[in-house]
Amino acid sequence: MTLHASSDLLQKLPSVDEVAHRSEFAPLGVRHGQAAVIEAVRMVLKRLRKEISDGVLNENGIHLALGGIFDAVKKQLDCDLSFSLRSVINATGVILHTNLGRAPLAVSALDHLKNVTSGYSNLEFNIGPGERGKRDAHIDRLFQRLFPDVGPQPLSTIVVNNNAAAVLLALNTMAEGGEVIVSRGELVEIGGSFRIPDVMAKSNAILREVGTTNRTRTSDYERAINERTRLLLRVHRSNFEVVGFTEQPAIEELAAVAEKHGLPLMEDLGSGALFDLNAIGIRKEPSVLDSLRSGVHIVTYSGDKLLGGPQAGLLSGRSDLISRMRSNSLFRALRVDKLTYAVLEATLLAYVKHDYDSVPALRMMRLSREDVGRRAETMAEKLASSKLSVEVMDGDSLIGGGAAPSAKLPTRLLAISHGDLTADQIAASLRKFSPPIVTRIEEGRVLLDLRTVFPEQDDTVVAALRGTGE
Ligand SMILES: *Cc1c(COP(=O)(O)O)cnc(C)c1O
Repeated sequence: MTLHASSDLLQKLPSVDEVAHRSEFAPLGVRHGQAAVIEAVRMVLKRLRKEISDGVLNENGIHLALGGIFDAVKKQLDCDLSFSLRSVINATGVILHTNLGRAPLAVSALDHLKNVTSGYSNLEFNIGPGERGKRDAHIDRLFQRLFPDVGPQPLSTIVVNNNAAAVLLALNTMAEGGEVIVSRGELVEIGGSFRIPDVMAKSNAILREVGTTNRTRTSDYERAINERTRLLLRVHRSNFEVVGFTEQPAIEELAAVAEKHGLPLMEDLGSGALFDLNAIGIRKEPSVLDSLRSGVHIVTYSGDKLLGGPQAGLLSGRSDLISRMRSNSLFRALRVDKLTYAVLEATLLAYVKHDYDSVPALRMMRLSREDVGRRAETMAEKLASSKLSVEVMDGDSLIGGGAAPSAKLPTRLLAISHGDLTADQIAASLRKFSPPIVTRIEEGRVLLDLRTVFPEQDDTVVAALRGTGE
């Protein structure tokens, strides 16, 4: 289209004011406010102008578009004024899915959150004496019960914004200006650009790599220790495994080296379970308590991974070291608010009471293959009359969130296909449902793992599947 023709067409568009003041728009103004209506009209007209300049709208097209402008504005308003962050149904079987918000929160945690944050609270107030208090007190008291009698030294726990912040704070406090010894096989990158060497640089500590990618021995650490050494660091590999010709000192051996040289030993556990993973069939994955019992002085871990709580970074360990971290000015910059404390406190209280099933991530991990299978069979029966072909089969759920990369739980999957639709089309249709349902695709079929679907969502999933390809 020539410039001339397009500017002629642009002339045909009404002004924002002219549209917004039409009588049919008045109810929208009453409902959403005139300013929002004007903004929505502006967006719709801007889109039309662009389509005209790009030559995709001819005279007839404009005529049609202007005829439908009321609906277009309404749709724009719905989009502008609705939440972008919304709940989805996770049918992927990945329990701690970083893209889907990691751990779902316990109902008791949400009740406590609402109760504590909708008004004022004693976040930093000691009610008895009526004096200023410390916010960490609310959770440290629970950790005292979760980590009893670990060793001769008293333990404390503090909370920061996430585990990345916890590692930064720990390295800066214990090793600023000095060296930190780490195995080459542990210089990991965790999703979302958390790289140990980068965090080390930001903390002003100097990385001293020892060993090789696949093998590091105690003697490698011993040889690297010098007068500038401040800390020995062990990092959980989280998202990969080294297999074959490998060697890594046991954490107890590292603790002995640290002891001998009077150095602190820190472990970035990442996931940091507060329960025994052997109970759900996952071996060789140390809990926070295991790590502390092995002689690690400071353990860092996330609040929203295996712990099943809010986004947070926890630092548990020797009270004298934790106390230095609390006095570091970085701690003030990284501290968390009352929302996090409330959710964390209620989640930890569930652990203290051994009420594991009230923490959704723990409940999901503890479901047996048969529990999931029964629900899948029921769902398959309800879909028998639909146009989908549905099969229930064996598979694996993933813990995710950087638990051991091989940490899988046996499960039963619903495998879905449709004569006229590709797996991508089925998955896209399920994502369009309200609430959106997220699945995975393998070998041309859509797979749903009900382990991560809340039982009360099963009927919604059935409705969405029934609507697919109708
Ligand atoms: C997940 C993870 C982190 C980052 O934790 P965030 O809470 O996401 O900041 C750091 N280190 C390890 C080993 C991890 O697994």
